[in-house]
Amino acid sequence: MSFKNNINTWIFDLDNTLYSADSGIFQQVHKLMGEFVAKNLNMELAEAKKLQAKYYKQHGTTLRGMMDNHGVDPDYFLEEVHKLDYSIVGPNQNLNDELYKLEGRKIIYTNANKQHVLDVLEKINLTNFFDEIYDIKMADYIPKPEISPYEKIIDLFNIEPNKSAMFDDIAKNLVPAKKVGFTPVWVDAGYENFSDDIEASKEYLDFQTRDLSLFLKDVNEGKI
Ligand SMILES: [Mg+2]
Repeated sequence: MSFKNNINTWIFDLDNTLYSADSGIFQQVHKLMGEFVAKNLNMELAEAKKLQAKYYKQHGTTLRGMMDNHGVDPDYFLEEVHKLDYSIVGPNQNLNDELYKLEGRKIIYTNANKQHVLDVLEKINLTNFFDEIYDIKMADYIPKPEISPYEKIIDLFNIEPNKSAMFDDIAKNLVPAKKVGFTPVWVDAGYENFSDDIEASKEYLDFQTRDLSLFLKDVNEGKI
């Protein structure tokens, strides 16, 4: 297949997909989540971090674990854990050039909240570039890779799954993408996220790249 001729909707994860994992933003969120758990459940930080990891693994997000087990208000949680220093995030001009050449709708699909998306997009010079932002609130706080939010995004934005490609740095998030009919592209950040399961996801990963801008360059040149 040719992406250029067959794809009319481009769905991108945000963190570690549209900007580099090296930026340290993920580590900041991770740290703030640990502190949130410690503060709100009156725990030592070390204990809180273990619980944070457990919820992330069992519930898909720490947030979901905190909601299901402790009735935490999701918007408050999301606001607190995204009090970040965004100054370390910057634009990738090569990537932006290729993104601007893509024809069709561009959508962000993230397990984070909308304000975080807006803050990052400003830093990477992509404010107002995306047609839609589908955040965790719109997904009813149900994170990827549960399949129901993938079904919801299709309905919500009238997506034609067989004409859509989805990009994500977490391989297992592409399993439901493939199941609903999207063409999955794994953006391999070069390390394994502790919650990921690359081995079990491999057969669902139609495409993979170590460099999203090079992949999109090939797409724009009609090479794939
Ligand atoms: Mg990501």
